[in-house]
Amino acid sequence: MEITIGKFMYQSIDDEVLTIMKKDKEVYRMNIREIEITFYQPEATFSRVPGVYFVAPGMNSAYLCTNRKDKGEIRRLHDYLVQYGAKEIIMGAMKAGMAQHSSDIQKKQEEKALLKQQKEEEKKQLKLERGKQAAIRLEKQRRRSGCKEKTEEKYRCTVCGAIWYSNSMDRAKNVHNALSMSTYAINQMRDISRCPKCGSGASKHHTVRYWIDKKGNCMDREE
Ligand SMILES: [Zn+2]
Repeated sequence: MEITIGKFMYQSIDDEVLTIMKKDKEVYRMNIREIEITFYQPEATFSRVPGVYFVAPGMNSAYLCTNRKDKGEIRRLHDYLVQYGAKEIIMGAMKAGMAQHSSDIQKKQEEKALLKQQKEEEKKQLKLERGKQAAIRLEKQRRRSGCKEKTEEKYRCTVCGAIWYSNSMDRAKNVHNALSMSTYAINQMRDISRCPKCGSGASKHHTVRYWIDKKGNCMDREE
């Protein structure tokens, strides 16, 4: 037996095993005698097309076979399966439809609950993140209290990658390990934007902020 319904191909092996194939891929395989089957016709339901519901051991939900362009294939499949031992469920088509419907509703509810859980988790994470940021802010405030804020320009040569600073903070200690050139020498450079290492004029610069305590130590920096 071989019947094509929509995108699916229903094949039987020795009239004992039914396989449902989709594009050469096996979707289901079951013993025909273990199938419980419900066949419904449009005139008995709200549906416009006939359909067959299967349930077999190992399936986690009922399988619905239906096709808008059915030309009698569904009835042929049903009749074949019943002929070779599938158990016909007397349960009406409406009830079968309702079973499918209620499982759809359950699925939706589960999805909704999952979404809610994810949202709550995100909220918790956000709260945690906010707490962390507040702690960081507080720590920064603590570190910077009593300090003087200073700025300088950080230059980076786009050719050789050298970094140098144009600064006025000669007394600040532990600020950075820039290009091994004294601040004095750098500040004496004719063109501060020219690389002291390779001489290229191609450099980029941005402002760096420092917090210097009364002893001249750099307590914090930001760029
Ligand atoms: Zn350079």
